[in-house]
Amino acid sequence: MVETYVFGHKSPDSDTITSSIVMAYLENEMGNSEAKAYRLGNINKETEFILNYLGIDAPELLESIEDGADVILVDHNSPAESIDNLENANILKVVDHHKLVLETSYPLFLRFEPVGCTETILCKLYEENGVEITKEIATLMLSAIISDTLLLKSPTTTEDDKVAVKKLSQIAEVDAEEYGLEMLKAGTDLSSFSIEEILSLDAKQIDFKDVKSIVNQVNTADISEVMVMKDELEDGMNKIIEEEGLDLFMLLITDIVNSNSQVIALGNSAGLVEKAYNVILKDNTVLLEGVVSRKKQVVPIMTENA
Ligand code: MN
Ligand code: MN
Repeated sequence: MVETYVFGHKSPDSDTITSSIVMAYLENEMGNSEAKAYRLGNINKETEFILNYLGIDAPELLESIEDGADVILVDHNSPAESIDNLENANILKVVDHHKLVLETSYPLFLRFEPVGCTETILCKLYEENGVEITKEIATLMLSAIISDTLLLKSPTTTEDDKVAVKKLSQIAEVDAEEYGLEMLKAGTDLSSFSIEEILSLDAKQIDFKDVKSIVNQVNTADISEVMVMKDELEDGMNKIIEEEGLDLFMLLITDIVNSNSQVIALGNSAGLVEKAYNVILKDNTVLLEGVVSRKKQVVPIMTENA
């Protein structure tokens, strides 16, 4: 049988990595295809914590695929965030919780739900198809939901995510609060990363109408610990702005304990941040109270004001 590549987005987060593993397992259990999970970039510290906790290896790095290869996309559907030659692939399925942008010239299986995490949808797919959620699978799913919803505190959180967390923590036999905080904190350890790596860890290219932007989000348990690097971060951001011809680079430093984000905004369109949030940037930075979700609290409001 031909192998099916299962992968999430570039700059992989915990949802992308765990969903690739969980989706590949589901495909194999259902006998649909010989599916294998891959990743499109380096594993972050939080995902490393999850994989170490379970004692499992990270999926193999995928640099390119052959034309006509069968692929399944999870946790993304935008070609810009996917493998470079996606247009030549044969996309079999997409399971995602982001805005639909993908267009194909052929029919395919799509499962999109406006929930907090891809794993919440996968949890339903296991149930619908009568596939047993093992302790390991439950831990992967649970970890990703905690990650994407910041322990169910992000405004992206839905009732379905809460139901899934309750059920999965029982199967995984973990205390979601305790395990989740430990996992999120592991993800905030930036000590081994260079400035360039920090600026690309969770960077997304998003255009707010004509404003060509990158929005990068870094989680922390203490904003001041990241702000000590402000000068170096700004140098790095300015370099990327120049190289990529950007109008705006927004760095969100998100306090996962208190649910706020300090934003550093650079570029000719930095004023858009002031307009969108009715704030004034001082030394290129300001605290955005209660803002933790790029998808719900940044993209719509920035687009609206652009
Ligand atoms: Mn993701
Ligand atoms: Mn996700």
